[in-house]
Amino acid sequence: MKRARAAADRRVYLDYHASTPCDPLVVEAMLPYFVEHYANPSSSQHRHGRDAAAAVAIGREKLGVAIGAASQEIVFTSGATESNNLAVLGFARANASERREIVVSAIEHKCVLAAAESLRTAGFEVLVAPVDARGVVDLGWLIDHIGDSTALVSIQAANNDIGTIQAVAEIAQVVHRVGAAFHCDAAQALGRIPIDVRDWDVDLLSLSGHKAYGPKGIGALYIRGGARSAPLAPLLLGGGQESGLRSGTLNVPGIVGFGVAADLATNRLPQETDRIRRMRDRLEERLLAALPGTSVNGDRDKRLCGNSSLTFEGADAEAIIANAPELAVSTGSACSSGAIEPSYVLQAIGLTRQQAFQTLRIGVGRFTMPDDIECAVDGLKRAVGHVRGASKHGGGGVAERVA
Ligand SMILES: *Cc1c(COP(=O)(O)O)cnc(C)c1O
Repeated sequence: MKRARAAADRRVYLDYHASTPCDPLVVEAMLPYFVEHYANPSSSQHRHGRDAAAAVAIGREKLGVAIGAASQEIVFTSGATESNNLAVLGFARANASERREIVVSAIEHKCVLAAAESLRTAGFEVLVAPVDARGVVDLGWLIDHIGDSTALVSIQAANNDIGTIQAVAEIAQVVHRVGAAFHCDAAQALGRIPIDVRDWDVDLLSLSGHKAYGPKGIGALYIRGGARSAPLAPLLLGGGQESGLRSGTLNVPGIVGFGVAADLATNRLPQETDRIRRMRDRLEERLLAALPGTSVNGDRDKRLCGNSSLTFEGADAEAIIANAPELAVSTGSACSSGAIEPSYVLQAIGLTRQQAFQTLRIGVGRFTMPDDIECAVDGLKRAVGHVRGASKHGGGGVAERVA
C-alpha cells in the first residue's frame, strides 16, 4: 500500500522529444532581462537599448559557435516551426522562377510537411522522399528523383518520434550536385548530436530553444552566407529586424537563454549523451526482457541517445498511458479533425495502423535519474501486463482508456 502510494505520487518525465525543462543556468541568465534590462534592443538611442542589443549579440554569437556558423548567419525566430516555415516558404517565394519542385522526407515534422503542401496551390510540385524500415531517407530515391527543377530539399537531422539520425552531409552532396538548396530541421539535434553547418554543408538549418533545455518561444534559422544576402522572402513584415527577414521586437530573454542553452549543448554533449544512452539502453533491455512481444523502432545504431520508440504487441498505447499515470510518455498520435490518427512516422517506416496504435515514444534527457528509469520499467511492466490481460478478456484495451 505504502509502495503503491509512493508510486502514484511520483511523476517521471520521459517526454524529452516533445519539450525539455529549462536548465536552471538558462533561467538564471534570463531573469535580469525581464526586470532590469527590458529595453527594446532596436532602441539604439539610449544605453538601455544598446545593453539589450549587446545581450542579443552575445546570444547570436553563442548560437553560431554551437553549430559552427558565423553570428551574422543566425536569424532568431519564435521556434523551429517558424524557422521551418521561413526556410521552406521563404525560399520558395524568393526563388519561384524556374525551379518549381520542393522535396521533403515522409517523416518530416508536420510544420515542414504542411508548409511544403501549402506551396502546391502556388504551382509548386511537392515530392515526398520515402524512408526505409529504420527511418533512413532513401538516398537512391533522392538521386533518381531530384534534378534541374528541384528548388529545395528539406530533410531533418534527427526524428522526433523514432530518433533516427540522417546522413545529412551525404544528402547535402546529392542535393547540391543538382544545384538545389538544402534545408535541415535540426530541432532534435541540438545538444543530442554534434552539429557543424560547414561539415554538413547545409544552406539553411532550423533550431528550437525548448528542445535543447532553453525556453519556449525562441528558435533560430541558420542561413549560409548571412541573413543580409539571404535568398528568402520574409514571412513577417514590419520594423525590419533581423536584416528584414523577421520583423518583430526581439525576444531578448529568450535569446539570452537560448544562447546559454546552446553553450551547454556543446559543453555537455559528450558526457551527457553517454549517460543518457546508458539509461535508455537499460530501460529497453529491461522492458524487452520482461515483456515478450515488445519491439524497438528506428535505427538501433544511428538513433538519438535518449530516444526509445517501443511497440507493445497486443496493448493499446493510450491504454498503457492511462494505466501508468505517473509516467509522462507519449503516443506520437495526432488528433486531426476529431479522429485520432496513429503516428504517420511509424506508418512511413512500415508499421501497420494497429502497431502504430500500440507504440509509445519515450524520451530520456538531462534531468532523468537512474531511479526514474526503474520507476518507468516497473510502471510499464505493470501497465502493459494489465492492458494485455484486459484485452484477452475482451476489453480490447480500449475500455481501459476510459477507466
Ligand atoms: C519540436 C519540433 C519542431 C517544432 O519546434 P517548435 O520550436 O516547438 O516550433 C520542428 N521540428 C522538429 C523535428 C521538432 O522536434
